[in-house]
Amino acid sequence: MRILITGGAGFLGSHLSDLLIGKGHEVVAMDNLITGRVENISHLMGNPKFSFIKYNICDYIHIDGKLDAILHFASPASPQDYLEMPIATLKVGALGTHKALGLAKAKGARLLLASTSEVYGDPLLNPQPESYWGNVNPIGARGVYDEAKRFAEAMTMAYHRYHGVDTRIVRIFNTYGPRMRPHDGRVVSNFVVQALQGKALTIFGDGNQTRSFCYVDDLVRGITELLLIDSDKSVAERTDRSSFLTKSDQPLKETMHDPVNIGNPRELTVKQIAELVLKLTESKSQIEHRPLPVDDPKVRRPDIRRAKEFLRWEPKVELEDGLRKTIEYFRQVI
Ligand code: UDP
Repeated sequence: MRILITGGAGFLGSHLSDLLIGKGHEVVAMDNLITGRVENISHLMGNPKFSFIKYNICDYIHIDGKLDAILHFASPASPQDYLEMPIATLKVGALGTHKALGLAKAKGARLLLASTSEVYGDPLLNPQPESYWGNVNPIGARGVYDEAKRFAEAMTMAYHRYHGVDTRIVRIFNTYGPRMRPHDGRVVSNFVVQALQGKALTIFGDGNQTRSFCYVDDLVRGITELLLIDSDKSVAERTDRSSFLTKSDQPLKETMHDPVNIGNPRELTVKQIAELVLKLTESKSQIEHRPLPVDDPKVRRPDIRRAKEFLRWEPKVELEDGLRKTIEYFRQVI
């Protein structure tokens, strides 16, 4: 397949490029480099299966030749970034998604939208199944990302229903691993960099809020499964034939066009993450408390039954093992 990845120089876009090129596909990566980085893809430059275009996908996109699939991953994604770039975040979720869908329609390409657990907002249900509609503050500071992605999901479903575009939506939960930016403000990168530099670990609030962390290799494997799965079979049709299924008495009615959560369901408090990072880095750093950001979700944990039943996917990398690899990466780059 010839695949366009918007946000191709980002943390996830670059890992997806590696995986898809490794499977023999051709990747065209597009990125305006506001949060993506050329270092993430420099090892792919010169590979005949890879090309890079520096471009803002909010502008009209033209790509020569055929395209079989589009992975729409462009967006600031760390709270620090989208709070600093609220309008760019809203524009890429709205205008960028519209352009990407228009291109998918013109080329007859499948489009996979990178959505997020943030569509659930500060959830009143834990864990969060895909059927949960969420609890988002539309006018809060964080709303720029949450609503951009909610709009992007609505636009994607409209292109599927109205124009028949073959679409997929993945709701990505907290992910970590090599190629995170050391200073993008997310909890794992912050804590690891602080621990390695002997600085205090900054816990926002009391640290009792929870998150569930998926290692990047597990995540991109799940996304690739969702991208490559054949269309127009309902989950029920697939699962009827599946020995993987554990509870087949009530087959789901959804199709692969409905959103799928991908994440690791092991839930930890932020305090526990700090303790784990201190242990694995053997750091003597102190802990310092900072104010909790506005609308910071109190709990987050994916319900991954749909991904298990539908994609036969589940995460394999233990948090401790993934953190060791991430710590090794940060030791090299900071
Ligand atoms: N957090 C923290 N210290 C930091 C960075 C983040 O305590 O230095 C907290 C943050 O308030 C949130 C959790 O860690 O409760 C995860 O934050 P992150 O920015 O990684 O992603 P989010 O899940 O909020 O999108």
